[in-house]
Amino acid sequence: MSVSSDWFRARLTPLILAGCCGLGPSAEAQSRALEPKAALVDDKRIDRIDERDPGAWLAYGRGYDEHRFSPLTQINRETVGDLGLVWSRPIEVRHRLQTSPIVVDGVIYYTDSWSVVFAVDADTGETIWTFDPETRRQYARWSCCGGPMNRGVAVYRGRVYTATFDARLVAVDAATGKKVWDVDTADYPSRVPYTISGAPLPASGKIYIGNSGSEWDHRGYLTAYDADTGEKVWRFFTVPGDPSRPFENPELEQAAKTWSGEWWKLGGGGTVWNSITYDTDLHTVYVGVGNGTPWPRRIRSPGGGDNLFLSSVVALHPDTGRMKWYYQTTPGDNWDYTATQDMVLADMVVDGRERKVLMQAPKNGFFYVLDRRDGKLLRASPFGAMNWATHVDMETGRPVENPDVVWEERPQWILPGNTGAHNWEPMAFDAGRGLAYIPTHDTPFFFALPEDYLETGVYTPRRNRMNLGVATGSYRTRLIEAAGERPEPKGFLKAFDPLTGETVWKVRNRTARIGGVLATGGGLVFQGDGSGFLSAYDSDSGEPLWKFQSYGSIIAPPIAYQVGNTQYVAVAVGARIEYFDVGRMLVFALGGNASLDEPPKRDRVIPRQPAMTASEEQLREGDRLYHQLCASCHGYQARGYRNADLRLMSSAVHEAFQKIVREGLLLDLGMDSFAGDLSMQEAELVRQYIISRANIDRAAAGPP
Ligand code: CA
Repeated sequence: MSVSSDWFRARLTPLILAGCCGLGPSAEAQSRALEPKAALVDDKRIDRIDERDPGAWLAYGRGYDEHRFSPLTQINRETVGDLGLVWSRPIEVRHRLQTSPIVVDGVIYYTDSWSVVFAVDADTGETIWTFDPETRRQYARWSCCGGPMNRGVAVYRGRVYTATFDARLVAVDAATGKKVWDVDTADYPSRVPYTISGAPLPASGKIYIGNSGSEWDHRGYLTAYDADTGEKVWRFFTVPGDPSRPFENPELEQAAKTWSGEWWKLGGGGTVWNSITYDTDLHTVYVGVGNGTPWPRRIRSPGGGDNLFLSSVVALHPDTGRMKWYYQTTPGDNWDYTATQDMVLADMVVDGRERKVLMQAPKNGFFYVLDRRDGKLLRASPFGAMNWATHVDMETGRPVENPDVVWEERPQWILPGNTGAHNWEPMAFDAGRGLAYIPTHDTPFFFALPEDYLETGVYTPRRNRMNLGVATGSYRTRLIEAAGERPEPKGFLKAFDPLTGETVWKVRNRTARIGGVLATGGGLVFQGDGSGFLSAYDSDSGEPLWKFQSYGSIIAPPIAYQVGNTQYVAVAVGARIEYFDVGRMLVFALGGNASLDEPPKRDRVIPRQPAMTASEEQLREGDRLYHQLCASCHGYQARGYRNADLRLMSSAVHEAFQKIVREGLLLDLGMDSFAGDLSMQEAELVRQYIISRANIDRAAAGPP
């Protein structure tokens, strides 16, 4: 008898809830229509936010300067003890939530993991409208790291712009929540689909958006679209394409001289997946460019070279997309060191001279201060633990690589690791104090070349898999075991002086996984972490003054805003591994006393496993396939990443395994069909490998 997948899903869902993947609360229903809000935000309003809209949060980093500093003072060092929850709304979460809300004229706009937009009364928490761009769920498999994600919307000239994980840019009427236009930003050939996780930037009549997925063989670019019509105005590619074809612009012809081999076949990388900002004073758009792909330069560009414009800050003319200048943080990137971290613009006196500066703390661990007129390097000071480089040579502007740490020759733990000393979780800048508040992590990564490449000297690209170009599977495990102790991952909040390079204070976070930062005029710094606490610290001393347990994992940045006479602090909270997936927008004010129920806990005990029938050799093949296709979402050695912990699969899920993996039974949750990648026999080897890992971890845990 054959059964339909609907029938199967209905039977399977309760079992999944009981032991496997977890279902988030459904997206909230449409509700009452408040008075329509036109959201007439323009360049001037964003630029002058402090004078004209001190209670607003008008762009991703609040204003174009990206300080993430709210001048509001009602919540301050004296009153913060009285801060409490006033409202919360559920958000569907398929991954930890990253959304950074925007608040305009009393409306807060934020997104879920699938780029669904919520327009909510920022005072009461009542829904005004929701807009679902219908992101194609199968794109979840093209995630870099665990599932779909979205960092928020742009609000501009009466519209709300959301970029989707399936690489569309969608304009929505801010008053009604109805779609105005919808464009495919991935109109460029690629080996696997492009995705978008970042927030669009609105400026100068245009909407700027990049994309994600260097590891998936992409060639990075930034596109400017006409804000009114959605028409493409220009596109800037961050790395050169096939040199036998005409270059898109003269900058790329120059850049191609810094590459060798056949880099374009795997895209080259350089995706603009996070940071884009606008300078109203100098009429310039700044773009943070991602890492190279594959990661090892020896594979990517065998004859060497800096590989421009990887890992660079690039200044572009907003009207033409032509380059003004660039600064490359990591020439010849060899470590997944993106320069896509948020960029802070400020006017400050440097060495006795008033300068317009751009500050960035990219993955590579150096905090850069650049003159944003010409990209001149003014400071480069380490802010995180590192062993890859010793310092930056201020004459050449280049990092000096550590001659004793050459991982291609001796595989080893590298700091910062691929997650960087600082990742996309934004920092804050308090201009009055002259301090940047940086969420940093000392999280190492074990770098080693792939076994087959070492044997043959030839790198064989993997179709429909990430091409990191580093060792995976049991070979990597053996190398790690031989290398000895792994440096302990740690997370910190650091108050950092960009000019002296001094860490004024630091707080060790409860987890290595940490959240973005908000600084306020109340002398406070807010930050969440993976343990679920949102905390407030004294801006001068780092003394902890307040905390709140959200039962979630916080990586999204908190924001502050004011409606009427009340100051609020808001933060999105995503799934934490010991609970069923619950995402929420939480909003706090003085005197707030709403409570949050602890969500139901998952049973984390690994159940008795089905019979293992595979031979040792078959398990090795299952291990290889698992780490090529499954690990980026389901975790190294099947230890559960942010999604389903496959060691906890119930017997019903085991029985449905082929239907889930090869027929897309759980597509709505973002689990694509892998029928084109795995035969039935191969899918079974992956299942056998999962069983073997579950048995090992179950035995190690001892009797329940
Ligand atoms: Ca990367």
